[in-house]
Amino acid sequence: MFPLLKYAKSEVDGMISGVTPAMVARSLAKDRHDWFDLLNLISHTAYPFMDAMRETAHAARKRYYGKTVSVYAPLYIGNTCVNSCRYCDFRIQHTGTVRRNLTLDEIRAEAEAVKATGIDSLLVVAGEDPRINTVAHLAEVGRLLKPMFSNLSLEVAPQTEDGYRELFDAGYEGLTCFQETYDQDLYREMHPAGPKSNYDWRLGTQLRAGRAGFRILGCAFLLGLGPWRCEAASLAAHAFYLMKECYAAKVQFAFPRICCVEGGFTPPCEVDDRDLELMMLAFRIVFPQCCMTVSTRESPEFRDHIVQTTADNMSAGSRVTPGGYAVLAGERKKDVAQFTLTDNRTPAEVYAAIRANGQEVVFKNWDNRI
Ligand code: SF4
Repeated sequence: MFPLLKYAKSEVDGMISGVTPAMVARSLAKDRHDWFDLLNLISHTAYPFMDAMRETAHAARKRYYGKTVSVYAPLYIGNTCVNSCRYCDFRIQHTGTVRRNLTLDEIRAEAEAVKATGIDSLLVVAGEDPRINTVAHLAEVGRLLKPMFSNLSLEVAPQTEDGYRELFDAGYEGLTCFQETYDQDLYREMHPAGPKSNYDWRLGTQLRAGRAGFRILGCAFLLGLGPWRCEAASLAAHAFYLMKECYAAKVQFAFPRICCVEGGFTPPCEVDDRDLELMMLAFRIVFPQCCMTVSTRESPEFRDHIVQTTADNMSAGSRVTPGGYAVLAGERKKDVAQFTLTDNRTPAEVYAAIRANGQEVVFKNWDNRI
C-alpha cells in the first residue's frame, strides 16, 4: 500500500468489501469527495450504479474541461535500459528487442514528423540508462524540442530534485512516473535488480519534480500486476498527498493496462473493460479537477467512449519504438516495443473521432507567463 496510508491491505480490502448500496449512493450525491468515497465507488457494490456514475463523471468532466480533448504523442528517444522489470521487453535481459538511442538529429527528425500531424504536446520517453540519458542529455533534448512544442513532458528514470530543476529550466513542465505497483512485496518481485528496485526512491519522484517546479505530475500503477482495487486505493492516497504537498501542480492520472509481451510475461491480474471504466469513473468523480489520460494501449472503441465521460487527454498516432515516426519509416512492423499498441489510427483519424463525438480537439492549452 502507499506507505503513508494508515491502513493495511487487509483493512482496505475489508472496507471495500463492506461497502453497501447506501454508501455508494451517498458518495455519488456528495459535492466534495474524500478517499473513502473512492473506496465506495470502486467497490463491487458500485457496478449497478455505473449509469449514474457516468452521468456524474460526465458532469464533473464538463465542469472542468468542457468539450475539449487535449492530444499528445510520445517520442521514444532510446530503449536501452539497465533495469529488469519482468513485464517489459526493454529490460536488460531481453535480447529480442532491437536497441537504439537516437542522435539529436534523429530526435529532431522524429519531432518534425510528429509536429506535422498537428500535435503540440510531446512526451519524451526513454529507458533507464545512466550512461546515455543523463540530466545533461535530457536537458539538451529539451532545449532542442521546446521551440517546436508548447508543452513538453518527460517519462524517464527518476531524478534528484536538482536534476528536475535543470530539466524544468530546459523546457519540460510535465512528468510521468508510474509506480507500477504500490505493493512493496510485489514491487520487489517485479523489479529484482537495477536502480528501479528502490521502491521509495521511485515513490518520491513526483514530489521532487513538484518541488522543482513541474506543473503536471503524472501518477499511475500498472493494471494487471496486482489486485486493482487496493492499487487504486493507494493511487488515490498518493494523489491526495501530492495535491497537499505540491498544491501549485496538477495531478494527472493514467490507467495503463499491461498485456503479454514478447519476452513471455503474462499479467497475473488482468483488468477487463468494465473494471477499467468503473475505476476511471470513480477517479473522475473524486478528483474532478485532475487531468486524466488514455493512451493508445486501449482500443479505439474504448478510447472514444471513455473520453466523453472521464479522460480529457489522449495520445494520437503513437509510435513506441525509438525512430518509429520518421527514422524507421517504412519499417513499422518493427514497432514491437515496450507495450503493444491497440489503437493504430492516424492522428487525423483520432481527431475526426473526437469531433464526431461533438468534442473539440485541443492542441495547446497552456502558455507560460514569459
Ligand atoms: S519498464 Fe522502464 S525501467 Fe523497466 S525495463 Fe522497461 S524501460 Fe526499463
